[in-house]
Amino acid sequence: MAIVTCPTCGEDFEVPAPGPLETPCTVDYDCEVCCSPMEITFECEDDGEGEGDSEITGWARGLVE
Ligand SMILES: [Zn+2]
Repeated sequence: MAIVTCPTCGEDFEVPAPGPLETPCTVDYDCEVCCSPMEITFECEDDGEGEGDSEITGWARGLVE
């Protein structure tokens, strides 16, 4: 899981994170608190050591002006 902050309501919530091999990627998601649509970009925090032990970070961007 990755924790993202909703750009609309400011609440933190968890979203299912993709595997490290699938990042970076962008998915559409609805906020679990206010249901606003957003785009979440997942990136892998990789320090270059080993595999399968990387942390996935999600960055949310609102789709509503
Ligand atoms: Zn929200």
